[in-house]
This record gives sequence, C-alpha cells and structure tokens, in this order.
Amino acid sequence: MRFTLTGNGAARGMALGRARLEQPSRYLIDERPLAAGEIDAELARLNRALMLARAELAALREKLHGMLAGEVGDFIDVHSLILADRELNAGLADLVRVGRYRASAALKMQRDRLVSVFEAMDDAYLRSRKEDIDHVIGRVQAALMRESSAEERKLAARVGEILVSDTVAPSELVPLAEHGVLGVVLTSGSPLSHSAILARSLRLPMVVAAHEALAHIQDDDLILIDGEHGEIIVHPAAQDIARYRGWQRDVVQRGKRLALLRDVDTRTRDGVQIHLHANAELPADIAQARACGAAGIGLYRTEFLFLQRKEMPGEEEQFLAYRDLVLGMGGLPVTIRTLDLGADKADSSGLVLDDEDNPALGVRGVRLSLRRPQLLIIQLRAILRASSYGPLRILVPMVASAEEMASVRHLLNECARDLRTAGYEIADHIELGAMIEVPAAAIALPGMIKKLDFIAIGTNDLVQYTLAVDRNNDQLANLYDPLHPAVLKLLAQTIATATRAGRPVSLCGEMAGDTRYTGLLLALGLTDFSMHPGLLLEVREAVNAFDRSELLGHAKMLLRAVTREGILHGLGRLQSCSAAVPGVAPT
Ligand code: PEP
Ligand code: MG
Repeated sequence: MRFTLTGNGAARGMALGRARLEQPSRYLIDERPLAAGEIDAELARLNRALMLARAELAALREKLHGMLAGEVGDFIDVHSLILADRELNAGLADLVRVGRYRASAALKMQRDRLVSVFEAMDDAYLRSRKEDIDHVIGRVQAALMRESSAEERKLAARVGEILVSDTVAPSELVPLAEHGVLGVVLTSGSPLSHSAILARSLRLPMVVAAHEALAHIQDDDLILIDGEHGEIIVHPAAQDIARYRGWQRDVVQRGKRLALLRDVDTRTRDGVQIHLHANAELPADIAQARACGAAGIGLYRTEFLFLQRKEMPGEEEQFLAYRDLVLGMGGLPVTIRTLDLGADKADSSGLVLDDEDNPALGVRGVRLSLRRPQLLIIQLRAILRASSYGPLRILVPMVASAEEMASVRHLLNECARDLRTAGYEIADHIELGAMIEVPAAAIALPGMIKKLDFIAIGTNDLVQYTLAVDRNNDQLANLYDPLHPAVLKLLAQTIATATRAGRPVSLCGEMAGDTRYTGLLLALGLTDFSMHPGLLLEVREAVNAFDRSELLGHAKMLLRAVTREGILHGLGRLQSCSAAVPGVAPT
C-alpha cells in the first residue's frame, strides 16, 4: 500500500530503489533474560566485543605521534586501564552467567553501578570522570552492535539501494556512494550538517529528519525519495514513477539550459562583475568547478582529506593533494582552509576527544590547530610547498579573536622561513584570511581587519552561533533562520567593514549557492560568492538577471525590518530588481 513520509530535503535529486535499514546507532539494550542454553554464546559475544574495544584503543594509541601522543594518549591509557580492570570484567561475566543478562544489558548495569560510585564522590574532578566510564562502556556497546549488524552493513553497500538510518557520519558516505547506494534517508540530522554537505558533493539525494522512517519502512520496500522537498514515497504508484521519469527528463533539460552559461561572464545587468568560486571537498568537485567556469576555489575543506581514512596524512601526502588541487585549477586562485575538525567532523580521525559536553562550542577549527601546533605546522608546510605551483591563499576556520590569527601568522612565517632555509621554492607572499563565522569575530572585525589579508563569511556557523541554534539539530530547524534581523545586520556590517578597509570578502556558507538569497547578498554589497560547483550555473543565471544598483538602493529598508514579515516583504522588493521570472520567496 502506497504511503508517504516527510522529512527535510538535504541533498537534492530523486532516487528510486530498495530500502536498506540500518538500526539506530543508539545502543539497543536487549532486556530479555537469557535461556540456560544461550549463556555460553552470549559470554563469547561479550568477550569478542571487549577484545575488539581493547584492540581499537590500542590501535588508536599507536596512531598518535608527536604532540598528540602526550595529551590524547593519557586519555586512551585511562580507558585501556578501565577496560582491563579485573573487577569490571568479572562483574560483567557474573551478570551474564548468574544474572542471565544479555551482554548489552550487563554493560548497562555495570555502567550505571560505576557511574553512581563516581557521582557520590566529593571531589568535582573525580565526579566528572564518570565520562570515562561512559566512553569505555559506549565503545564496547558499539563493538557489540557492530557484530550484530555487520551483515546488514554489508548488505547496505549494494547497488540500487537507499540507506535508511538514524545518522550517517561524513566518513561513511563516500564508501556508500562508491558501492552504488542511490540515496540516503535519515531519521535525524539537518541540511547543514557536514554529512549533508558531503552528500551534495557526492550527488547523493538525501532526506533528513524523517522521524518515522525507521518505524514505517521495511527492508526491501521500494521507495522513491525526493531530496529537494524532503519527501519519501513508500511503495510508489505508477504516477509516482512517472513523476520520477519526468524529473529525470527535467534534469537533462535544465542541464542543457544551464550548460549554455558555462562560458558566460557573471555580470549583473548594470555591468558589475561578480566572482563565483567553488567550494570543494572531493577531487570530483575540482573537475566540476573547472567545467562550470568557476573563478577559482573559494573554500577547500581540508578536513575531508583527514576524515576518509584511518591515519593522518603527513606533510608529503598533504603537499601532493594541495599541489594537485592548485595544478588542477590551472592558474585560478585557490583558497585552502586549515583543518576544521571538531563538532560533527570528528568521526574516525581519532584526533578529537568526543567527550566534550558542547563540541560545537569546544575544541574545534583553529582552537584544535593551536592546541596541537604540530598538526598545523605540518599542514602549513604542505600548503606553502604547494604555493609555488599556482596562486593560493590560506583561510583559518572558527576564528574568534585577533590573537588567534596572530598565532597562526607567527607559525606561518616560521614555516616559510624554515622551508626557504631548507631550499624549498615557495611563493613570496601568501595571503592569510579568517573565516567570519563566530559572532565575536564579526563584531570585533573593525579592530582586526587590517591584520587580515581577506575574509570569508561562513554563514552555516555564523547563523548557528548568532542564534544559538545547533545547525545539526532537526528539532530546531525552524529557528535556524539566515534571514533573522541579527544575522542580516552582521552580514551587512561584515561586508561593509571589509570593503571599507579594501579587503576582499567572500561568502562561502550554503546561502551563497541558494538562489533565494542571491538578490539579498548582492543588495548587501557582496561581489564574491563561493558555493558547491553544482549550484554555480544557477547562481550565475540569477546574478545576471539582477540590476545591482537597484538592489543596493533597497538594502537600508531591508536592514530596518525587524519582523520576519518585514524582511519577506523587503525580499519581494529585491526580487522585482530581477529580469527573471520571480523565484520562490523563502518561507
Ligand atoms: C560555514 O560555516 O559557513 C562554512 C562554510 O564552514 P563549514 O560548513 O565547513 O563549517
Ligand atoms: Mg564553518
């Protein structure tokens, strides 16, 4: 029987395929008591999971070197000691053998017991160490889960299937796409998560926050997903399949229409040149950026080099990646962002401690780089070495203060000096810029702009931090509003401050590639955009239809608006400055 489910569109495109369910990664605690005949097998399962968790920790320890070995290594050692604890292990075995608990329930009992001991402690530091228990037990639970779902995971990587899961890590998406998975449905998540950004790069249609999906879809159900409108049709009828075929034809048509814009200048009707750069995460993005006539790479997210692998890339490997990127762009400028690990980009790297209470407000981006300068030094050296192959600049993420930029510049100068002394060819001057994505940086920008060579506005984070709305929390999706008056004011101020100081300013958040905001950003004075290359031609089409001077004339009125109605009304006025058929206004 046909039925539909809804979520939020996160990576557009439609996909028709068989559903493959992956059970939630939250630990499923099986409370059913064991039968006598099951005890030995369950003990063996538990022991395998414990061994796996120990082996994982040992492998993680092995991977650490240099500065990392000290700080992170201590944590790992503590976790290994807990896992090796005789009492803990004997208690678990007893719970299974005598108490007839299943492994997952035994782990939960032991966790609760140990945590209550820690919670009763007077010392605040010791009390906080209950997190170590959670971390260790969580690792064993995950190992248990992996064992039971290993078969499902194998199946999930089959051609023609659509993955239905609660979450998916950015590092898991590439292998899924490579194995022929056609699309992804998640019960949680947001279109601004890094998994969604990567899905768009991989052209993998994705629907997120489809809360009912795991409860209502069965393995092997035929499903049709619409990653633009966030729709899932289970057991699609003939008219749905016809719609899907129609969409396929439209894609071809639209592709043909937009292809005509490949070699066209990006220029408003009144003749102002606008620069459209591409964001890149994967090598395929570079080829696409060239193919659609991007002005350069405005944001190269280097963390994706780190996420899709088990150990960290060294200087030589990073150098080759950056060199190929620069060569691939054939003389067009490339902006390489230093590592922005942390928050939802922590996954398999083993670099980021995942027990921070508020990872988005934690050791992320430049904060991680400055705490582990050896990491940053390796990266800066690799980038500097690539600088002799073509124009590149360096962008620093998550900056909140002038001091952070001064520290990075100091390290950059030292790296440049060392490389020159060692006889390397590097460019005479490398521009160093800051992402403006923390409100503090936007507000304090007048005081620090002179020390920056350029800035790039990261609206994905600027909106989240300005509005105190987690960009990955689907419960708050309606509060994540790039049109909030506070956001518009910060955008306008930032663009104006940089322009007055004669510093290039671009915008590289998802807003840049969304044609609903093109008129708005032009009205605020923006002339440099950076977006996923798949969106560039649409934005070019939109830009070329606008009259910029007319738009600029409406900016003040827009910034005076204090309500959403007022802002939407203002946006309607902006749309009238376009010669194109009016687009759909943001809702
Ligand atoms: C941003 O925050 O807008 C941005 C471009 O960076 P990221 O999405 O990688 O955090
Ligand atoms: Mg960001």
